[in-house]
Amino acid sequence: MRKIDIFDTTLRDGEQSAGINLNTAEKMEIARQLERFGATVIEAGFPASSPGDFEAVQRIANTVKNSTVTGLARAMKSDIDTAWEALKGGQQPHLHVFLATSPIHMEYKLQKTPDQVVDIAVEAVKYARKFFPLVQWSAEDAFRSDPEFLVRIINQVIKAGATTINIPDTVGYATPQEYGALFKFLKENVTGINRVKLSTHCHNDLGMAVVNSIAAIENGADQVEGTINGIGERAGNAALEEIAVALHIRKDFYGVETGVNLQEIKRTSQLVSQLTGVVIQPNKAVVGKNAFAHESGIHQDGMLKNRETYEIITPELIGETTAPLALGKHSGRHAFKDRAITMGFELNDQQLNEAFAEFKKLADRKKEITEDDLFVLFTGKQIENSDASIYELTNVQVQYGTSNVPTATVAANVPSGENVVVATTGAGSVEAIFNALELLVKGHVNILDYRVTSIGKGRDALGEAVVNLRFNGETFTGRDISQDVLEASAKAYLNAINRKLVKDQTQVRVKEMVGQ
Ligand SMILES: [Zn+2]
Repeated sequence: MRKIDIFDTTLRDGEQSAGINLNTAEKMEIARQLERFGATVIEAGFPASSPGDFEAVQRIANTVKNSTVTGLARAMKSDIDTAWEALKGGQQPHLHVFLATSPIHMEYKLQKTPDQVVDIAVEAVKYARKFFPLVQWSAEDAFRSDPEFLVRIINQVIKAGATTINIPDTVGYATPQEYGALFKFLKENVTGINRVKLSTHCHNDLGMAVVNSIAAIENGADQVEGTINGIGERAGNAALEEIAVALHIRKDFYGVETGVNLQEIKRTSQLVSQLTGVVIQPNKAVVGKNAFAHESGIHQDGMLKNRETYEIITPELIGETTAPLALGKHSGRHAFKDRAITMGFELNDQQLNEAFAEFKKLADRKKEITEDDLFVLFTGKQIENSDASIYELTNVQVQYGTSNVPTATVAANVPSGENVVVATTGAGSVEAIFNALELLVKGHVNILDYRVTSIGKGRDALGEAVVNLRFNGETFTGRDISQDVLEASAKAYLNAINRKLVKDQTQVRVKEMVGQ
């Protein structure tokens, strides 16, 4: 069967969308999961864009073994040099270099003539090939480019050594018929197109990212780019889990395979949602919480008689487990450790001990520990940043009554090492806590977004808080999970502030490392 490569850009195109900021530990966690998911290529970031991106790409390239790791670069030597520094430790160093080819981008953004654009693209690919065995070249805004010009420039970059050619619909403007036709046209008119991988990259502005990607596959694309849960710039990218499942369920029609480990879909989706703070809409195809829920009586009746009456995808296919959890208050450390391993976590002894202590505490307060609870507990441990100087909440106390002024007292270990206590008032409990924390962090903080959700069901469910805030002019999203939503809110607030501290510390570390 024809094989379609999966190019995942959750950590690059996905991460650059509004309100998402992942630190290196979180990116590593997602990259490891993408490797299990079966991504052929993982785009880990844009190394020249920031020291944080550089460090994350480098660590991912040095760690991931079963997927090819790539990084983005503009068509300029300095970007390519920086990307090489970040990627050279990888199994098969791969570079993704791009340049816009549409009339509007060439004229207004690049302010270059088409001839100049061809020269710059060729130079960049030739230069990249001095270091990288694999070089993907993207024609940014390809769909709105002149097809004849695309043929001309692609002929040249293939001659210059490009190994993959990507034809993105950068602004999400294409229809399936037109986008498919463009692939067919390039297949028929570009010399040597069969020697390179042809790639599709779609955005979802008109809700057609997935269907456009599939149209490209039907017309000769060898690789499909997208993100988990479809996150990304504006309306997002093509959702890879939807493409993988559609091609699997309808392989009778499409006749292709992706090599994706479908059993890892649920977990990959959950992890990306948890770490980015981007909620999955309940009715989203494949991974939405209602994707397998049958509500109406007629449907339920049909399902009881024969599941296939209304079910074309089984929850088991994507790794959604319904098995009851055997862990509880009386579970021992050994069973706990086994569970961590079966769930795919690699925790060291200290992390395991800490996680076990938290589990015991939770089991005392919560009747039933679900798989979801364990998932957030293990993930939290795995991404903990133990070597950074940060704020750590030690106590939060709120006095609230409908006829009183809410007052909050917070205590936290601050980066200098002391424990500081601050108290103040607010219009509500959460505002009082946030006001106290603003005094604690001694900066100017604007809350842009704040959300509390429950993990799983039941009145004793864990609460997750997500706080998106602006701290001294920069925007960060923090999250935390706790049994109490006020505690989760305070911790999420400090988690956002800590991201600023970790980012600054990374900047210093990377500058020292590259000797600037
Ligand atoms: Zn994109």
